[in-house]
Amino acid sequence: MGDRSSFAKTKQAAVPQEAVFDTHAEVSLDFELVRQAARQKYTRPFLILDTAIVRNKIRRFRAAMPRVRPHYAVKANPDRRVLKVLVQEGAGFEIASTAELDLLLGLGVPAAEIFYSNPMKSRDSIAYAAAKGVEWYVVDSLEESRRVFEIKPDAKQYLRIATPNIGADWPLSGKFGCGVGDAREIVTAAAKTGIDLAGVTFHVGSQCRNPENWRVALEKAKALFDLMAKVGLKPRLLNIGGGFPVRHVKPIPSIETIGAVVNEGLKAFPEDVEVIAEPGRYLVSDAGYFVCRVLGTATRAGKRWMHWDAGLFGGVIESSEGLRYRVRTDRSGPDVAWTVGGPTCDSVDIVMRDEPLPSDLQEGDFIYIQNAGAYTTAYASQFNGFPLPEVRVFESKAG
Ligand SMILES: *Cc1c(COP(=O)(O)O)cnc(C)c1O
Repeated sequence: MGDRSSFAKTKQAAVPQEAVFDTHAEVSLDFELVRQAARQKYTRPFLILDTAIVRNKIRRFRAAMPRVRPHYAVKANPDRRVLKVLVQEGAGFEIASTAELDLLLGLGVPAAEIFYSNPMKSRDSIAYAAAKGVEWYVVDSLEESRRVFEIKPDAKQYLRIATPNIGADWPLSGKFGCGVGDAREIVTAAAKTGIDLAGVTFHVGSQCRNPENWRVALEKAKALFDLMAKVGLKPRLLNIGGGFPVRHVKPIPSIETIGAVVNEGLKAFPEDVEVIAEPGRYLVSDAGYFVCRVLGTATRAGKRWMHWDAGLFGGVIESSEGLRYRVRTDRSGPDVAWTVGGPTCDSVDIVMRDEPLPSDLQEGDFIYIQNAGAYTTAYASQFNGFPLPEVRVFESKAG
């Protein structure tokens, strides 16, 4: 019930003027540079990414939330060159698989700084991570808590709780995270069994444009901390997850605005509680442009279609679930509604429908997708025989 009224409040506050949200200008990779790169050499779709921007973003994240250590979510962009920069900047990491673990160990990241945040891990994966020295394991069910305990009895476990994903462009709450009743059961069982259930985590939804989600989630986490202490557990890790948004088409709250909400909520937690976050998108998205080409155009039943040489299977997948990218071109004709398909023959391979784009776009034209450094190349497959996008990484002088 308490949640309800706070959501109502959020609704009103969630239609602010863009200017109110933009307390700090958002950075983005220089467009002219991207155009030049496309002209120099084009063999297949590519992501071009400036790691100076990644550095800029992690520093800004830290400044906005001094008590929170960022543990980068590797899945957003697992390119080694990106990971290296984040290691240099002192980031920790969050993984979902042993392949991600190996990637990080190969870069010299200490296992103790790697958090295993996938709520469903195979026995083999847990055993492998344990042998490599990973200490922290997420759980969101009794079964997983027991499984981790059986394989690594001294594992430090943290509980993923369900929290509102309202206002997130890519909600995650339908899958992982336990409710209040299940949380009680898991906590009680941990205390009884001697499981070191020592933390709480949540994910407010990816590309979350509603700062209120963090406030509500922190309150829920605090209630659980209290319960854990009451039954004799020693809660000492608060992991506030990812979800920090980047600029596309819709207005977003700045990281400083979200930071103010988080910092306020953190006051309820004792000083000796370790606080981490798992930003993925926020750290890498702005650093890159995804570049592809118009493969061809067609009129079907009176509708204008164009097909790009990269679609859902080639890296441009997030637009299919409500995220709107800023798409730039070299054309200046009046906008008309285009439906954009990928190059494959699968009927799900539709990137966007009725998107206003210049009427004079034609075969061979470049398409530049801004702020696409996250969740693009990481998702790409070679389905239907089309190549994986190339990833070009560089570091400019001034990020
Ligand atoms: C994907 C994921 C993240 C990163 O989310 P972003 O929205 O990219 O910040 C963090 N934590 C977990 C457990 C995730 O699955």
